[in-house]
Amino acid sequence: MKIVETIQEVRTEVKQWRQQGLSVGFVPTMGYLHEGHRSLIDRAVAENDRVVVSVFVNPMQFGPAEDLAAYPRDLEHDAAICKKAGASLIFHPQPEEMYHSDFSSYVDMDTLTGGLCGKTRPTHFRGVCTVVAKLFHIVAPDRAYFGQKDAQQLAVIRHMVSDLNFNLEVVGCPIIREEDGLAKSSRNTYLSEAERKAAVILSQSLRAGEALLDAGEQRADVVCRAITDKINSEPLAKIDYVEAVDWNTLEPVETIDGPVLVAIAVYIGKTRLIDNFIRP
Ligand code: AMP
Repeated sequence: MKIVETIQEVRTEVKQWRQQGLSVGFVPTMGYLHEGHRSLIDRAVAENDRVVVSVFVNPMQFGPAEDLAAYPRDLEHDAAICKKAGASLIFHPQPEEMYHSDFSSYVDMDTLTGGLCGKTRPTHFRGVCTVVAKLFHIVAPDRAYFGQKDAQQLAVIRHMVSDLNFNLEVVGCPIIREEDGLAKSSRNTYLSEAERKAAVILSQSLRAGEALLDAGEQRADVVCRAITDKINSEPLAKIDYVEAVDWNTLEPVETIDGPVLVAIAVYIGKTRLIDNFIRP
């Protein structure tokens, strides 16, 4: 497995694979890899001849008051995980490689990005779309793998791929959790011991919502209220949003009967965590 820092090196590698008729899978990440990322890489390795993993903490998707400088990084650990999983190449560019000093072109989306995380992170999806579009041009994969953990991001990327005719398949992968139910996330490392215990409230509240649906409840406000009440029972938790939206349009729904995404964002202390479930 190689680790490269330049766009040219990625293109040279991929070109050689293409000349041999090999298929290419791609897993974009911000590094500090855990079993959630690993599940994406495993799937990519199973479905493609070669797999590229990008490790890039993309400055453009962080707001001015967000955790760009503090975001955890450990390339050696990431490389060990990628190698073990059978990835062929890590692309680890410096910010200057991705954004020249005169960089001024962006990918913006009018729909899907205004609600949910877009409300508190108004420039986030522009940063995500722009970097992912660039990475798609650089790697030119057959398939790209994204986690349902970031459900809005998955929907946005699918939409961008359709709108801009990227010639690749977007593969959505299930959420990988800790034993107590907390969704794995690089940001979990920010949590103190007490906060880590409190963070289980996210998945527990979603289970409470799912139990209501299983019992036949369909009213979105009733389900969201139950989730909200459960989260509010944890003193260290502060809700950013609890919403039920159409899984295709991300517009709020009143009745949970079609494909619906129930998504939450919750501050545990200063750390903002997200989780969700999808009702098909
Ligand atoms: P990140 O490094 O946080 O940008 O995540 C890179 C990719 O890994 C994204 O597609 C995420 O949705 C995915 N991912 C992160 N955490 C998980 C998880 N717990 N389960 C499944 N996929 C995940």
